[in-house]
Amino acid sequence: MLKYFVIMASLMALSTQETVEVIPPLSNGHLSLLHFKKDVSSCQFVDTKLEFFVLNGQKCAFASLPHAYSKSTATLACAADGNSESVELPVIAAEYETSTLKVDKKFVDKKPPALKARIKKEGAKVQAALADLDAERHWQGEFFWPRDDAITSPFGVRRLFNGVQKSVHFGLDLDGKVGDPIYAMGDGRVALASPDHFYPGSLVIIDHGQGLQSLYFHMSRLDVKTGDMVKKGQLIGAVGKSGRVTGPHLHWSTKLHGNYFDPADLFREELKKWLR
Ligand SMILES: [Zn+2]
Repeated sequence: MLKYFVIMASLMALSTQETVEVIPPLSNGHLSLLHFKKDVSSCQFVDTKLEFFVLNGQKCAFASLPHAYSKSTATLACAADGNSESVELPVIAAEYETSTLKVDKKFVDKKPPALKARIKKEGAKVQAALADLDAERHWQGEFFWPRDDAITSPFGVRRLFNGVQKSVHFGLDLDGKVGDPIYAMGDGRVALASPDHFYPGSLVIIDHGQGLQSLYFHMSRLDVKTGDMVKKGQLIGAVGKSGRVTGPHLHWSTKLHGNYFDPADLFREELKKWLR
């Protein structure tokens, strides 16, 4: 029986190695690059259809898992040469801390109907922008860190607001003073540039194509408008303290096909080797 298990385990591992290389290994709330070693024609990763691009002459795709994903494997099913093949890829459980924040009472108090309506309307506007994905890839090469400053709050922290409201920090906070510049992390289309939302404040959403998006919150100035095409490193606006904040900073988020992932993942050395 033991011998049987050992053989099965080695066969599965071999199959994965022959099909795909995962850079770095999958983890909840993180992004990985899949490098296909077989000429696959279409792939489904968990519940998402993967979008291919070519790096260094090799077929690749980005894959990400939700912050809340708790299984130890994720299924990749691909069609190749008229056959379909499915592999279980290992998932490393990411550990996220819990922190407590104090914010102005107006953000946690029971909200009057007019404010609730405003928040709902703003949320719908953001959701509509996020749902409108460009099929073509806009980004090229390495990504651009939107501002050269300290990380004041990492991605994925579980937050308690005044000990009451619970949420996950789905972005990375970069320090800054009101008026400091913010740059686009890659080429893309401005899916939304909108001022003074209750929670995110003044914000920009950029669609980089093939399911990749970046979001910039709490801005004091918007230098782009909805529909603009922007270039990597282009000035898109300035740091501010609009919306639900404890002080001026940039809240920067990245999404792949609806999953928030740690923006720092795009700057890992093992990924940069492929992008440059
Ligand atoms: Zn933040």
